Amino acid sequence: MQMVRQLILLVSLTGESNFEPKPAEAATIDAMTKTFPTPRLSKSKIISGRQCERRIWLEVYRPELRRFNPIQRARLQRGTDFGVLARALLGGGELVDFGHDHRSAISRTSELLGSANPPEHIFEAAITHQNVIVRVDALRTIGNEFDLIEVKSSTEVKEYFIEDCAIQTWVARGAGLPIRRVMLGLLNPNVGISDWSRSGESLRLQDVTDQVSERLAKVHVWVRRFESVLHSPEPSIIPGPQCIVPFGCPFVHRCGPTRLPPACESTERRSHPDTSAEDSSTPSAC
Ligand code: SF4
Repeated sequence: MQMVRQLILLVSLTGESNFEPKPAEAATIDAMTKTFPTPRLSKSKIISGRQCERRIWLEVYRPELRRFNPIQRARLQRGTDFGVLARALLGGGELVDFGHDHRSAISRTSELLGSANPPEHIFEAAITHQNVIVRVDALRTIGNEFDLIEVKSSTEVKEYFIEDCAIQTWVARGAGLPIRRVMLGLLNPNVGISDWSRSGESLRLQDVTDQVSERLAKVHVWVRRFESVLHSPEPSIIPGPQCIVPFGCPFVHRCGPTRLPPACESTERRSHPDTSAEDSSTPSAC
């Protein structure tokens, strides 16, 4: 991966004006996909792969091509802000804060899990299993067990939230952690969108253990599939509704114009953070 990153840096420094890799660069990336160890997968990469296999490939090998529009950036920032608020509302605990230094984060998480008196919550716990790493928003200590809490700045449960939780639960249990329940930390719909950052009642927990259990067996299949994708050339997937549902893909400029049914275009408009907590409905046409 170090050589891949160096290549990516080299590509960005050459100031390419279109985003097609030059033939020699494309050949080098293709060669790397065949010969290098599988890059470590993360929860977000698996969720990207669930949206589109071309997206996960680009996330790993051409991340410099990502372009987030202002709406996407605002939504990402709101998610970050709500995550910080949620930590305060959940109660006491210790934040495992090592940025992208996953090795240190995993080490510190292991220390906390192995201590005689683990904190009430371990925030951003770093756990790995079978070459997949996840950062859990909060692990709540319940005796000798844990509740896994995933925070989402949305008022409603969505399918990909459940898949997100299933990936984390698969990793945590695979690493030996006894996960008792899985909870989503959502925006309280009774708190107005303009007040949620100031209210002490903005967070509501919803138990999704049963829904997660139904999807756990699929995670292993996803992981093996995406490992295979990452050992192959860039998938030739054409743009379509998957480019904006369940969320906008930051590689649309790379893949070309997206022709969407009108219902899907209205979905994109509804995702604006000023108009709803987060788009929660997927039109059947998409
Ligand atoms: S823009 Fe569309 S086709 Fe291209 S990677 Fe993203 S989801 Fe896939």
